[in-house]
Amino acid sequence: MKIAIIGGGVAAFEAAKTVRSLSNEAEITIYSREETLPYRRPALSRMASETLSDAQFYIKPESFYAENRIDLKLSHTLNAIDTANRTLQFNTGESAIYDKLLLAVGSHCFCPPIPGMDLNGVMSLREYSDLQKLRMRLDSGVRNVTVIGGGLLGLELSESLLKRNCLVTVIEGCPNLLPRNLDAEAAEIVLEMFGKVENLTLRFGRTVDSIEGKAGKVVGVNLANGTIPAELVMVSAGVRANTEIAASGQIKCNRGIVVDKFMRTSASDVYAAGDCAEVDAVSYGLYDAARNMGEIAAHNMLGEEKAFVFQPFPARLSVFGVKLFSVGKLSGEHSKTTYDPKAGTLKKLFYDANKVFVGAILIGDLREAPKLQAELAPQRA
Ligand SMILES: Cc1cc2nc3c(=O)[nH]c(=O)nc-3n(C[C@H](O)[C@H](O)[C@H](O)COP(=O)(O)OP(=O)(O)OC[C@H]3O[C@@H](n4cnc5c(N)ncnc54)[C@H](O)[C@@H]3O)c2cc1C
Repeated sequence: MKIAIIGGGVAAFEAAKTVRSLSNEAEITIYSREETLPYRRPALSRMASETLSDAQFYIKPESFYAENRIDLKLSHTLNAIDTANRTLQFNTGESAIYDKLLLAVGSHCFCPPIPGMDLNGVMSLREYSDLQKLRMRLDSGVRNVTVIGGGLLGLELSESLLKRNCLVTVIEGCPNLLPRNLDAEAAEIVLEMFGKVENLTLRFGRTVDSIEGKAGKVVGVNLANGTIPAELVMVSAGVRANTEIAASGQIKCNRGIVVDKFMRTSASDVYAAGDCAEVDAVSYGLYDAARNMGEIAAHNMLGEEKAFVFQPFPARLSVFGVKLFSVGKLSGEHSKTTYDPKAGTLKKLFYDANKVFVGAILIGDLREAPKLQAELAPQRA
């Protein structure tokens, strides 16, 4: 059986690994448009300021693919799918046929339609090639950087930029810090902690009107109440699933490639997993979810029915010396807060009207995180 897996991220990797663990005969090919071995994408933010070893960065060394008879074709972009004839066309001019196809093509950074987005010096960080470009900018001595978007990724990136001696301004449209990961009380506490960080300015509840340029290069960011000087603008305003390639093959897409709980798309023998997939109207955009979906897709491609079970995948962040963890629903009829300002720790538990535990936030001391996560999982969608 020919199994074609498109994408070089964790969903693709996990699918290939799982297929091989279940079948000695399957012919497995991964096609990735990136030039690098599959790597741990979340590490990209840290790598703007740190050097990681290959073992820390790559999911597995090159030898793994040969040992497991996984044909890894890098620099291969899938350009077209013909689901009727089970044929794939690549940018290299090559074509391939499949018995089962997995689309694990991830997502891309959303760039809000702001005037000036096309200026030299406006970037986002999604792939290793973006990191290389960012490092070159930082090496050239960039000092003033504006980060558009104060979510988890924007904050992680800001920390790296501070380590590279940049003056960083984060602009976030929402009035609260990390609205998806903290409630208003916890956000207030964390904001106070972050407020003490040198060379970091956080501006919440503000939107960027336009990006100012001179001779095609970024020179500033215009807000309603003035301009912030900037030589580099990093856009970290959320992600959108890569659906174009599926849609061009008449596969049903919504915000993501629509899959059922077995990761099956609307096309026969075509599956999708990871950031590109939408299951029960949810696109997770999380590393653990992508890995889990890759594994589930592998089982189903081999005819073993295995369903994806909704899980409250947690959010974790460790920036500016503050550790955060949140999981589940961050609101409820009842809540219990334990806050120690001296120790810089907070534990907040949320309960529904029936006093059932539905979510948690931890700040500072995350030792209870695995226990709280286990108490919430699994819930069926
Ligand atoms: C900087 C950064 C930090 C992050 N931090 C966290 C974190 O702390 N916690 C967390 O849970 N998540 C984090 N994430 C999100 C997490 O990395 C993703 O959820 C996860 O990588 C999704 O895996 P995936 O395999 O579905 O897709 P991806 O990792 O995006 O991989 C998709 C692959 O498909 C390739 N591709 C796309 N189109 C084609 C095509 N047509 N042909 C061939 N190949 C194609 C892409 O080049 C890419 O290699 C972070 C992401 C970034 C960018």
